[in-house]
Amino acid sequence: MLNVSILGATGSIGQSTLRVIAQHSDKYQVFAVSAWQRMQDLVEICQKFSPKIVAIPEAKVSEFQQLLQQQQLKSPQIVIDDQGLIDIAQHSDVDIVMSAIVGAAGLLPTLAALKAAKKVLLANKEALVMSGDIMMQTAKQSGATLLPVDSEHNAIFQCLPQHYTSDLSVDKKPKQGVQQLLLTASGGPFLNHDIDTLAKVTPAQACKHPNWSMGQKISVDSATLMNKGLELIEACHLFSLDERFVQVVIHPQSIIHSMVQYVDGSTLAQMGSPDMCTPIAHALAYPERIVTDVKNLDLFEVAKLDFFAPDHDKFPALNLARQAMRQGGTAPAILNATNEIAVSEFLQGRLGFLQISQLVDKVLQQSQFTTAHDLDVILHADNQARHDAKRLASQIFA
Ligand code: NAD
Ligand code: MG
Repeated sequence: MLNVSILGATGSIGQSTLRVIAQHSDKYQVFAVSAWQRMQDLVEICQKFSPKIVAIPEAKVSEFQQLLQQQQLKSPQIVIDDQGLIDIAQHSDVDIVMSAIVGAAGLLPTLAALKAAKKVLLANKEALVMSGDIMMQTAKQSGATLLPVDSEHNAIFQCLPQHYTSDLSVDKKPKQGVQQLLLTASGGPFLNHDIDTLAKVTPAQACKHPNWSMGQKISVDSATLMNKGLELIEACHLFSLDERFVQVVIHPQSIIHSMVQYVDGSTLAQMGSPDMCTPIAHALAYPERIVTDVKNLDLFEVAKLDFFAPDHDKFPALNLARQAMRQGGTAPAILNATNEIAVSEFLQGRLGFLQISQLVDKVLQQSQFTTAHDLDVILHADNQARHDAKRLASQIFA
């Protein structure tokens, strides 16, 4: 029996993880979960999976306990705030950690899990974008296994030669006959919108993804293509590649989840229905395969796959991320922090859709970049960028 800790259990990835585990209760046990909002959902998780520990904010403890009492449920051990997240990530009884908190809040617990040499399933791409080399080094030093859950990176992992990531190259060039990665993107809900109409799109429209059902933040990122920008950075770190070896391809059907091209003219693709249970199950059971309730593809129904180059005028976020990766050091952390603020302002109706990328661009332009040699430098850059972004956003809004 393997003990699983789920950081962000009430989110979209958290719930899909629980769905996969529920089908394999002979192999996996939910040992600990975390949630930041939605205590009712957390109580339902407790009812169904009986975790031993829950990590929640201190401000939610009494609400959680009351809800448990109403259901006459026994309380699991409660650990609180940021330290609680770290506790359940590195707990000695835990074998597998699902890192599915959204945004920078997932960084410290994910690093703690890696330091404790856990098998870490990484959905929380922002943590890797921020800390890059530090996260990869932490995993290497402890001998932790870091497996990508993000569907594109999971697809690439599946298409790469076996053991490709067990000894990553230091020169950031592809090896073992690999030529480049093709990172696919659906293009989001505004793929076919005119650029002039984008200024007026609403959060509700931005959150309505054509193929995937996801949390709000990643949905907005998919609409601006910043998600693909973050994923570009994520791919460079996971597979130790310079950004010029990662090409972005718009593929509106989201059937091919990404590809690897080889020097002999081969292109390997991983395909499947757009359902996160597949990459979650792959990472959870790796190197084995387990059953999910995701239906296999009916290619006659799919019939047609389209591919386009991204429109950089309409979606400047992608190139902002590419530039930040090229710049290196603290630039990706600044890009990420600013984007988190911009998305949150957009969701609250205080910034227009096009202003999300504009704000990121502005903050990057006025920022000073340093090498990201330790975590404090990164956290400081993150903090400063949030501060700058809020100030600039309030000027735009006023
Ligand atoms: P979500 O918003 O649905 O869930 C986020 C989870 O994090 C919730 O459990 C929430 O309680 C918790 N959380 C939020 N703020 C927190 C904070 N400050 N401290 C601690 N916990 C906090 O998000 P999601 O769509 O499940 O995405 C989670 C992560 O996975 C993101 O990094 C996203 O980019 C990545 N991801 C998601 C998908 C998807 O299909 N949803 C696909 C690939 C990657
Ligand atoms: Mg993805």
